[in-house]
Amino acid sequence: MAPKAPKGTTDLIGEQARSWERFVEVAREVFTVYGYDRVETPAFEQTDLFVRGCGETTDIATKEMFTVYSVGAVQKLRDDEPLKDDQRLALRPEGTASIVRAAAEHGLVTPGGAPVKLWYAGPMFRCERPQKGRLREFRQVGVECLGATDAASDAEMIIMCMRFFEALGIPDSSMRLLINSMGDADCRPAYTEQVAAYLHEHADELCDDCRRRADTNPLRAFDCKNEGCQAVLSDAPRFTDNLCPACEERFDEVKAYLTAAGLDFEIDPTLVRGFDYYTGTVFEVQVEGGLGAQSAIGGGGRYDNLMAEVGGPDTCGLGFAVGYERIMLALDAAGVTLAEPPAPTVYVACVDDTVRETAFEVTRRLRDAGVRTLDDLQGRSLKSQFKVADKAQARLCVVVGPDEVAAGRLTVRDMGTHAERELPIDGIADGVKQMLA
Ligand code: AMP
Repeated sequence: MAPKAPKGTTDLIGEQARSWERFVEVAREVFTVYGYDRVETPAFEQTDLFVRGCGETTDIATKEMFTVYSVGAVQKLRDDEPLKDDQRLALRPEGTASIVRAAAEHGLVTPGGAPVKLWYAGPMFRCERPQKGRLREFRQVGVECLGATDAASDAEMIIMCMRFFEALGIPDSSMRLLINSMGDADCRPAYTEQVAAYLHEHADELCDDCRRRADTNPLRAFDCKNEGCQAVLSDAPRFTDNLCPACEERFDEVKAYLTAAGLDFEIDPTLVRGFDYYTGTVFEVQVEGGLGAQSAIGGGGRYDNLMAEVGGPDTCGLGFAVGYERIMLALDAAGVTLAEPPAPTVYVACVDDTVRETAFEVTRRLRDAGVRTLDDLQGRSLKSQFKVADKAQARLCVVVGPDEVAAGRLTVRDMGTHAERELPIDGIADGVKQMLA
């Protein structure tokens, strides 16, 4: 049987891999302008970091994490021996908890210091039911800004996210920016109780999970994908009607900044995002068309308690993450190609074995000069080498034959126009580069 990749994963080959590279490059271009620096964290962390970070009762922590055990740990489990904390590991389901952990571990945020701005790119892992736009290994780029308190930082985050989408080529008209406020320690407990009471009142219209959520984590019910629950939740008490004066004032400030920046947004009081760590401003960007049931291409918000929750100093933060695969669906629907074409290719054709060494040397010189060069590594006939060159969409073909080598000049054929030029072997790299230019 032919080998197969695991369910919910993808191979990015050729143009697809170049699209991912370009996606990361655009992220670098945009985020650098806003003062962000790159960060790389491990693909796995102690499970507890995500449980504490994302929230014990979130879908991510309860059903979507891929847990990783070493062979030694598996043996311990078989022997009913307890595992140490550092033997309980999980593939990262998201980036924020890891970045916050790294910032705390390395003391990046100093009292009175400037905000720390970091961006990342890489795979995330969630054991979800695979479908269009929903994978088990998917790729994200994201940013985290730690230690910025002002409402301006919320607005800057949203503006940068929209700027990133614009730079990727997602049509403005296809995007909806949704914002909400998740309140703070002053207003959230009372609001959560109101939602719990509302869920209990409507218990017989809710799914089993939401009935449980009414007791464990009522606000998570807003995330439920069940249509019946969504209908019930659309009439639930709204956070935006229950914010304390400080949160309301801050939310007004954020909205004023966004309006001044010319951004269209909608207030969505049901937007809570999938993690428990959010406080205050949250946002999500949705796209119409091309994405199946998955319309969110990115989102984020503030998480002012997360660093303290994972054991670091009490430092506020905010960020967002954008999913690569969903962006590709949105770009495909809009007819936009992200991948840059490969560099023009030159093919070095070797006429027979007597000139193989010269062909090898010519190839080496072209590559040393930075020209993308293919050569025959299979002893093929000249005719089939030309076919290979055609298939590889080579722009030029350098023909190395005994007569040419004896004359010290090589024939270079333009594969598009079929025009030919003779170039001295000595100056072959410069000559070819001129023809490509
Ligand atoms: P989240 O980390 O849940 O806030 O998601 C941020 C973005 O990552 C989403 O808007 C999607 O674009 C993407 N994303 C999240 N989960 C998946 C998944 N299972 N498959 C593909 N993309 C995802």
